[in-house]
Amino acid sequence: MVLIIGSGPIGLAVSIELKKRDIPSIIIERGALVNSIFHYPTNMTFFSTSDKLEIGNVPFISHGPKPTRSEALEYYRRVAEHYSLNVRLYEEVTDVEGNDGAFTVTTDKSSYKASKVVLATGFYGRENRMNIPGEDLPKVTHYYDDPHRYAWQKVLVVGGGNSAADAALETWHCNAEVSVLVKYDTLKPSIKYWIKPDIENRIKEGSIKGYFNSKLLAIRETEVDIETPEGLITIQNDFVLAMTGYQPHFDLMEKLGIELTTDDVKMPVYDTDTLETNRPGLYVAGVVCGGMDTGRLFIENSRVHAEQITRHIEKSEKK
Ligand code: FAD
Repeated sequence: MVLIIGSGPIGLAVSIELKKRDIPSIIIERGALVNSIFHYPTNMTFFSTSDKLEIGNVPFISHGPKPTRSEALEYYRRVAEHYSLNVRLYEEVTDVEGNDGAFTVTTDKSSYKASKVVLATGFYGRENRMNIPGEDLPKVTHYYDDPHRYAWQKVLVVGGGNSAADAALETWHCNAEVSVLVKYDTLKPSIKYWIKPDIENRIKEGSIKGYFNSKLLAIRETEVDIETPEGLITIQNDFVLAMTGYQPHFDLMEKLGIELTTDDVKMPVYDTDTLETNRPGLYVAGVVCGGMDTGRLFIENSRVHAEQITRHIEKSEKK
């Protein structure tokens, strides 16, 4: 039995590939099925076309050129049902003991025996914190959901990437008074090409106020302090949307004995052919492999991990 931690697209893909080779598996998921996608913004549209998000050779047809969050939820649900995957939801893995061939996996509800373990835990769910006063106020969120919540409110969006651009434009369309705070002198070049001119022009015309080369220093109930190149300013504020990115659960990886690189980008160490870590029989899969470099791996370029891992497991199971 192979135990897969996480029911994201890549955890599902690993389970499907194992099933094709008649190797039984179980997926343990701490939230809902494809929990990260479930928590993405309500109106989110993928930057990938639907064919690039397909797993298990099940066609994914979307209405528009790019699929929406709800289409993806329906698709992955359908795929999991089609393959009758063995998924336990709302159960969190807390530890993995033992060795290759005889692991004991502990969760907050139970424990399981497994010959191999695949860690496919992604990065969504652990936010990059700003570590400033007021960050824990209820008006601050790292998980933007629905623009309607912010209608007629003074909103500060922190960040210069895709999530920040989407949140700024959507809330502005709901008649929020929006400011965007960016650490650097421009927005990120990686912003979706059909969104970038829109946000840039809104800032240029002043509909959305842009604070570049700036830093958020403190958040209070009705205002925020910003360090700008012109000096410290205080502006009125109702909500802060901190779109500052996410990072994998390094503490879980460390607890599991997975070696992490100490170079400029912190990430797990693994064999790039097999995805096996330094702990034999324990694999990493999906975007978790990119570590802090969360922009390097996506569904579309990490789906292949499922095949690589399964091939290696099959060889060792048949020895
Ligand atoms: P995830 O989907 O993050 O799955 C990890 C799962 O593990 C989660 O369900 C989580 O709840 C679970 N988990 C974590 N810890 C535990 C634990 N201890 N015990 C049990 N379960 C656990 N990629 C693309 O290819 N195209 C796109 O257009 C695209 N758009 C994106 C838009 C946004 C807003 C974001 C944030 C990401 C986007 N990505 C896109 C990236 C990609 O969708 C996600 O990163 C993708 O979900 C990664 O798949 P995964 O299976 O590796 O990890």
